[in-house]
Amino acid sequence: MEGEPGLYTPTDQIVILNPDTVDSVLLNSSSALVVEFYASWCGHCISFSSVWKSLARDVKEWKPAVDLAAMDCADEGNKMTCSRFSVRGYPTLKFFHAYSKSGSKGEHLKGPQHDVKGLRHKIIDMMETHNETWPPACPPLEPASKAEIDNFFETNSVGYLALVFEKANSYVGREVTLDMLQYLNITVRRVLSTEDGLVSKLGVTEFPSCYLYHPNGNFTRLGVLIEARSFYSFALQRLPGVMRAGKALPALFDLHRNTTQQQWRPFNRSRVYMADLESALHYSLRVELAAHPIISGVDLISLKRFISVLAKYFPGRPMVKNLLQSVDTWLTERGDSELLFSSLQDMLDNTGLIADAILPEGVTWVGCQGTQAHFRGYPCSMWTLFHVMTVQATKTPGTEALEVLQALRAYVHSFFGCQECASHFETMAQENMNHVRTPSTAALWLWSRHNRVNNRLAGALSEDPSFPKVQWPPPELCPPCHTVKKNGEHSWDQGEVVKFLKGYFSSDRILPDYLE
Ligand code: FAD
Repeated sequence: MEGEPGLYTPTDQIVILNPDTVDSVLLNSSSALVVEFYASWCGHCISFSSVWKSLARDVKEWKPAVDLAAMDCADEGNKMTCSRFSVRGYPTLKFFHAYSKSGSKGEHLKGPQHDVKGLRHKIIDMMETHNETWPPACPPLEPASKAEIDNFFETNSVGYLALVFEKANSYVGREVTLDMLQYLNITVRRVLSTEDGLVSKLGVTEFPSCYLYHPNGNFTRLGVLIEARSFYSFALQRLPGVMRAGKALPALFDLHRNTTQQQWRPFNRSRVYMADLESALHYSLRVELAAHPIISGVDLISLKRFISVLAKYFPGRPMVKNLLQSVDTWLTERGDSELLFSSLQDMLDNTGLIADAILPEGVTWVGCQGTQAHFRGYPCSMWTLFHVMTVQATKTPGTEALEVLQALRAYVHSFFGCQECASHFETMAQENMNHVRTPSTAALWLWSRHNRVNNRLAGALSEDPSFPKVQWPPPELCPPCHTVKKNGEHSWDQGEVVKFLKGYFSSDRILPDYLE
């Protein structure tokens, strides 16, 4: 059992503890830690792991103030450590305050174990028990008074003070405060419904509701589709001038200047461009595949499947479709067990001079432009191509549910240059791709897995600050896609999402090139 993988991987946003790291992570840390001690063989822990992972995704923005960790006590190498922290049963959740002293065993965190929301509230309760040693990255969580707010801009130079008006038993204000702690140029405070002076000054009648206080003394109400935590945080993160910390703040009015050789050109952020799709084809077929001078075995099958679905579903210009169809026919008719990349390249370049069949050379990123050369581009265009293909398949009678997804999976597995991305994608595919039963659920599967990747990468160094990774489509792009459950948690209306995907990625909405 020693060293066997436990229930979590580093991509779960959970710190995986071992005897060498446990003390440095848990003790004398500037952030609080909530640790799950578990045993990987225990069924209860296995079912709880999905809650723990969801919680970690849900509170990932809170990290500098409080982080989640896990230790597998079934790993023999961890046995002594679990015993040192007095862990008797599994799972055991323990809260370690910031700056916990050596010898601390943490405090039991007892909470509703199947409920992300309940656990989140419990963590806030525990955070509030910090007294002298308040975690430095944690903003104040207590309600603000009118006097504090009146004087706020005398001592603070930020662009916004966001005020969440709420009842005393509500956690929304504190959740939004923690959601925003890594964002610059904004402060969030909760204000209780009993703060009469301010409530009547602004005429607040709805709790919760969120108002922005501006340095010029004006108040404006934050417009959201639903008065709930996720909608507030989402809207605040997108206010002009608000940026996630850890990244250079772009100069005002300079947000979209491209620092590459290519000049930044305006485009419509809510449309798909053919230039990106053709660039994806050029790069994948002429550049990425070139890393495989001889293609054989499973890789050859992957290539044939990929080209076959492109030939069937790529909604491109007639000359590009002709080219893809002729390459597909050529590949299908070849009986050889090996393919030289150079002969594929000859086909792609149409050196045989098939009439009206061209795949343009080079890349032009339009909807996939990045503000710097290393941002966006190819991976963005591949996602876009993949979504377009799954949507196109929903409109083609007789399509097998998994035909497109399996072909995309095969391509990613055999050829996608980012091997870590490929292995993450393969893990997601193995999990439940074969549960897909219809072309529409295939489009939905890809959408939800893409959102999972977005969630994992939000705030990563590879994120273009002008194109933050969001749970997509955001409310302004598809209002009916968003809803909340009875308990106030955000939820997707999947029927509306499918409808939206079919419109957004449909062939008749694809724009050819830049807006001139
Ligand atoms: P992208 O995420 O590339 O999205 C492109 C466009 O698609 C967006 O602009 C938006 O219009 C739309 N979109 C966004 N979300 C959705 C959605 N849920 N459904 C439908 N449309 C959506 N990078 C890593 O660092 N680690 C990985 O593990 C990883 N895995 C990847 C797996 C695959 C299969 C691919 C193609 C890429 C992967 N990448 C990974 C790259 C990463 O996901 C982004 O593509 C890259 O960082 C560029 O991001 P972007 O801002 O251009 O938006």
